[in-house]
Amino acid sequence: MNDLLMVIDMQNDFVTKKGALYFEKAEFVKPAVLDIVRDRISKDYTIIFTKDWHDKDDLEFKRFPPHCVKNTYGSELFDDLKETIKDYENSIFILKRRFSAFFGTNLDEILKKLSPFKIEICGVDTNICVMYTVEELKNRDYDVLVYEDATGTYDEKLHLFAIDQMKNVLGARVEKWR
Ligand SMILES: [Zn+2]
Repeated sequence: MNDLLMVIDMQNDFVTKKGALYFEKAEFVKPAVLDIVRDRISKDYTIIFTKDWHDKDDLEFKRFPPHCVKNTYGSELFDDLKETIKDYENSIFILKRRFSAFFGTNLDEILKKLSPFKIEICGVDTNICVMYTVEELKNRDYDVLVYEDATGTYDEKLHLFAIDQMKNVLGARVEKWR
């Protein structure tokens, strides 16, 4: 049993200026995520990186502008993160087409095999892919720790709502990284 870090959707379309769904608070989230990832690499954690990964004509684009289309720049992890993890072998990538990192992926089997003691969470967007993934982790009774200052979304009210929901309804632990 080991601790494990999950980094949710730190992709160009969400966190890089000109990204399709970029929001300004991403500038605050990126350094925190990099700091956590570097620290966890130094402790040899398994790190799971989720990536939103859509076909060109995904039905989700009826509600959101097209984003994270497979194999485009927008779907890649942001440059500094990509560089930071490029030689790190203890990385797992989950490509997903819905908010939850469990839907249509083999994340369930991966976690069963790893049987983590605790799962740490950072990434974006707090109220969407972070929260719907945390919900499914808590359904499976994992010990989940969300770093609230290493998550963010396009609306601070929704960020605070989601943090409150994950803590008080889903039973995740919430702490600050910095
Ligand atoms: Zn999406």
